[in-house]
Amino acid sequence: MDFKRHIIEMLGLQDVEIEDIKRSKKKLKIEVKVRQKRSECFCRKCGQQYSHIKEWVLKELLAPPLGIYQKVTIKFFQLRGYCEDCDRTSMAEADWIQPKFDNMTCGFAEVAGRLMEEITCEGVSRILFTDSKLMWRLDQHRMEVMLQFLKLPPSVDLTYLAADEVHFKSMKNKNRTGLVAKRYTPHFVTNLVAPKSGKVLFNAMGRDSKALTAALSILSPGQKLAVENFAVDIHEAFISTIKTECKNANICIDRFHLVQKANEAFDKVRRAEFKKAKENNDNLSRNMLEPHRRFILMAREKELSKSEQKLLDKLRKHNESIHTAMLLVEYLHKALDKKNVKSFRKVLTSWYWLVRESRLEPFKKFARLIKRYRRNIEAYISSRLTTAVAEGLNNKIKVLKRMGYGYSNPISFCRKILQRCGFLNHLSINTDEFFFKWPNPA
Ligand SMILES: [Zn+2]
Repeated sequence: MDFKRHIIEMLGLQDVEIEDIKRSKKKLKIEVKVRQKRSECFCRKCGQQYSHIKEWVLKELLAPPLGIYQKVTIKFFQLRGYCEDCDRTSMAEADWIQPKFDNMTCGFAEVAGRLMEEITCEGVSRILFTDSKLMWRLDQHRMEVMLQFLKLPPSVDLTYLAADEVHFKSMKNKNRTGLVAKRYTPHFVTNLVAPKSGKVLFNAMGRDSKALTAALSILSPGQKLAVENFAVDIHEAFISTIKTECKNANICIDRFHLVQKANEAFDKVRRAEFKKAKENNDNLSRNMLEPHRRFILMAREKELSKSEQKLLDKLRKHNESIHTAMLLVEYLHKALDKKNVKSFRKVLTSWYWLVRESRLEPFKKFARLIKRYRRNIEAYISSRLTTAVAEGLNNKIKVLKRMGYGYSNPISFCRKILQRCGFLNHLSINTDEFFFKWPNPA
């Protein structure tokens, strides 16, 4: 009966005997009836063999697909025995049943868990013929368990780090009476990123000093001291945290975030001009300045098609403020393209002058910010770091958000980022044992 032993092994079962196998080739279903081996059943309290069997409890369990048979069900007879020494009855243990989700085997949970590292819970529920909410809960649990084994692989370069906040969602405020108020509060997640490898090392909810400190907690004190460059957004809470946490780091305001801020200033000008155009029945400006076109306006020249470029030229001739604002963004790019601090400063000086002349309030405000953090921007210029990989990562997180996990809770969003964009997955954490026995959560 070697054959049955092989099946037991392939299904990830232990200490059972197969009594029956029902196959439906048409429906690609298998039902395997198994009974716990009496010789392997022990009293939970004293660990002795049971004096006698009280009953056999039937459980139906989901098991991983077996070859072409996609739906595998285990009918499991579990022993409930009586121990004379302890004078009590107990259910014999079966390690291969998922302890938290007792309608599935550990093998099934791990197969599903690995799939959810790659695709949505809905997708997995369709592949494995199960409920998507159950899959979601399993994924959450698995990530929580794996978190206690999270370690950064030695191959990751930790001398260059970046802190990056992602908007999670805006949630309705609840007031004290529990009624939902109308105001929405934006919620953020702070990611600690290794830009060279494009991985999220760790993260935390919020975007304050506490959040970054929590995200940095994945690093050892020595690793923190070894950080040479730290790229951040212009955000005082982050900057002061890095100063205390990573004392040797060069704090650089990177291009990606700076351009983001420039685009924000530009968008303020666009909104003001759009409003004006509506009031003055200026149709050309109005059409071109509509919110959905703002991406054309902010694109760099080479990213535009010929017709888009033509329209843009027309608008720029027509609307002076927009023309100036675009010029200011382009000019800033020119400054940031500079390879050394000296030539950067030179271009920046004329940029300041242009801003003053423009009389565009959003840019004047932005220029004051740049003035304040000029040293940190220069640190970026001289470090010659690029943010290409980090930007790709940012897009990946955006896609993750859009894929509609319906993250109603930010903790699950944080973990999902670590799973998909970091090291909270079976490629970095060896979970082979999970197929047979699930570890206890910390
Ligand atoms: Zn006992």
